Amino acid sequence: MADAKHVAVVGGGVMGAGVAYWLSREGVRVTIFEKESIASGASGVAAAMLNEAFPHDPRYALNQLTMRLHKELGEQLQADSGVDFGYMENAHIALAFSAADAARLRAEVPRLAALGQQAEWVDPKGVLEVEPQANPDTLGGLVQHQFQVIASRFTLALATAAERNGAAVVYREVTGLAREGSRATGVQLANGDTVAADAVVLAAGPWTANASAWTGVRLGVHPVRGQILRLEVDHPLRASLSGEEMYIVSKADGGLLAGATEEHEAGFDTGVTPEGLAMIMQAAIKLAPPLANARLVNHVAGLRPGTADDLPLIGAVPGWDALYVCAGHFRRGMELSAASTKIIADLVQGRPSPIDLAAFDPGRFGAL
Ligand SMILES: Cc1cc2nc3c(=O)[nH]c(=O)nc-3n(C[C@H](O)[C@H](O)[C@H](O)COP(=O)(O)OP(=O)(O)OC[C@H]3O[C@@H](n4cnc5c(N)ncnc54)[C@H](O)[C@@H]3O)c2cc1C
Repeated sequence: MADAKHVAVVGGGVMGAGVAYWLSREGVRVTIFEKESIASGASGVAAAMLNEAFPHDPRYALNQLTMRLHKELGEQLQADSGVDFGYMENAHIALAFSAADAARLRAEVPRLAALGQQAEWVDPKGVLEVEPQANPDTLGGLVQHQFQVIASRFTLALATAAERNGAAVVYREVTGLAREGSRATGVQLANGDTVAADAVVLAAGPWTANASAWTGVRLGVHPVRGQILRLEVDHPLRASLSGEEMYIVSKADGGLLAGATEEHEAGFDTGVTPEGLAMIMQAAIKLAPPLANARLVNHVAGLRPGTADDLPLIGAVPGWDALYVCAGHFRRGMELSAASTKIIADLVQGRPSPIDLAAFDPGRFGAL
């Protein structure tokens, strides 16, 4: 596809906007089709922690590439878009409330050090030196270096930079594909129009599963609801804190995000519940007791794009020409977006992926 003239991208979340950004930087004409608004899905509500991973994770090579690209984007994308997306680096403390927690977290230190990642075990006094508002009643904590962005602004920055490079955003729902034989030749829209394209990228988050019926390939992505709170405090926390499944993250705009639930039975319902609120606040106050006096300014839910093996779908759709998928990144889409979308741009442009994509094969769930 070295001579690709027009690429249609389905979805204006971080994946669709990212693919559009990289391709438009190379002068490719791109149209993003979005049924609601840019970052209206999970990409608008995520905590957007960009964490480093371990070698035993199949996403390790993707993670290493993505962290390198995020560091580059930290400066470049702001210049390209004019959008301040709150890239920052701070400390993250995983707090230990039990002996088992402490043993597990302490064991991470040598493993992380061997990877060249900054990690230190600190006692309860050390926890309070890093974050004075943390719970004083812990057994200590694992302190790591954390990278993060503001999710909605990062996605908006990608889309805005793509538009500055000549991409278009069309606010229409895609309802099917145009094809000639096994080649995707465009997208069909809800208003009955067909828009021609030389390549199509499916980046529709949990709704990517709808394209199974268009392609005959089981694109096994499903929604996993996550409720998350935005809090305001008089004295911002310096560090992010986590324990068990919950976390609190200080953002560059002074706000604090506390989350998140992981609900596998809620389907496409983005409603929020009193139970979700109670679970998150209880955990947040345990991590940092002064949060009992925080102001609750927002309680929202997003739909993470989950898959049966928790791994994303990245690559060409089997049996098709000029059709690609970038979806299913579950809890790590903001982190993995930089590399995943760059790889899709490479494939669309006829370049090989710099990493092995076998674990992310979009065809691994079989035919419909
Ligand atoms: C509470 C919460 C916290 C999170 N925290 C983190 C975190 O700390 N770190 C991290 O890395 N990740 C985190 N995530 C995960 C991350 O948000 C997702 O993995 C990522 O945003 C998925 O991006 P996406 O572009 O694939 O999907 P989405 O953001 O869902 O975007 C898909 C877009 O496609 C559009 N669309 C769908 N169908 C069509 C169609 N037929 N036609 C046109 N448009 C269509 C939708 O309207 C939507 O805008 C979190 C998620 C949640 C919910």
